Amino acid sequence: MTQLGNDNDGKQQVCLSVVVPMFNESEVIEPLFIRLSKVLSQVSVTSEIVFVDDGSTDDTWQQVQQLPLSASEHQCIRLSRNFGKEAAMTAGLEQARGLCVILLDADLQDPPELIPQMLEAWREGADVVNMRRDVRHGESWFKRFTAAAFYRVINSMSETVVPENVGDFRLLSRQVVDSINSLPERNRFMKGILSWPGFSQTTIIFDRDPRFVGETKWNYRKLVGLAMDGITSFSIKPLRLATWAGLITAMSAFIYGFWVFIKATVWGDAVAGYPSMMVVQLGLAGIQLLALGLMGEYIGRIFMEVKQRPIYIIGNVVHQASGRDRAAK
Ligand code: UDP
Ligand code: MG
Repeated sequence: MTQLGNDNDGKQQVCLSVVVPMFNESEVIEPLFIRLSKVLSQVSVTSEIVFVDDGSTDDTWQQVQQLPLSASEHQCIRLSRNFGKEAAMTAGLEQARGLCVILLDADLQDPPELIPQMLEAWREGADVVNMRRDVRHGESWFKRFTAAAFYRVINSMSETVVPENVGDFRLLSRQVVDSINSLPERNRFMKGILSWPGFSQTTIIFDRDPRFVGETKWNYRKLVGLAMDGITSFSIKPLRLATWAGLITAMSAFIYGFWVFIKATVWGDAVAGYPSMMVVQLGLAGIQLLALGLMGEYIGRIFMEVKQRPIYIIGNVVHQASGRDRAAK
């Protein structure tokens, strides 16, 4: 662990940054702030909260700016529109100035009370403190099952180990944050990106609470998209699988053809059938389309990368430090 940190214009170095991505979370801001600032006033380090408003359509932005000053400084960042949680976290990580950074969901599913424990692990030398959920309260068996299947698939395909049941709630040291900030890819599959730099890791197990209020912003369509993104941005094994599938079907077709030929010439067996033809035909067409679609996924990803568009656009930054208010556009 190094104590690098960016130069903070000669001001007091911030030790801990808490990055909170928010999209239409106006109902939870107050309870979150009360719990978070209580915890931050108890830890004996300088801290800042980086609120990232991911283009909310409710009054999240107004509320965040009206929060009273507390023991910690606030950076309020408003993205120009909704870019998605991954982009919001990227923005937060780039703006955070702390020697260590904690990513925290706004909806109080990640208890802020665990922050002292995370800091302790960091002080003991861990560069990454993974927070692993023990029980997923308020989630259906189907969600739990699909989540477990996802981790199994991604870990068998990618070289980066994505720890199971570890969400974005983690502590990252400055070195890890700098490595993540240096990754140029537009496709931000955070579970992979956060694990990619490596460094020394510890895991703390915690009970994940149900959402405090409001609804999850994820639906199954979005989750399937996220899983696809994760697999295709961290592994090219699916392409190799397609090659194997092609090879195996071609080999089987060849063996079967040979068998049909022997049957017809040796036993004079008439060529049987429509059903087997259809099965083979449809099977092959299916595999071809699947392989094409798979290639399309990767080509689409290449297309998104070569466009080189920014991951997010910051519309507004408001910096509130104890004792003074500084607003910058
Ligand atoms: N979030 C965001 N942008 C989005 C969707 C969500 O910044 O487009 C934030 C949201 O405000 C919350 C966190 O990401 O702080 C997690 O979202 P949510 O609770 O909906 O996801 P879940 O906990 O169900 O995975
Ligand atoms: Mg949530």
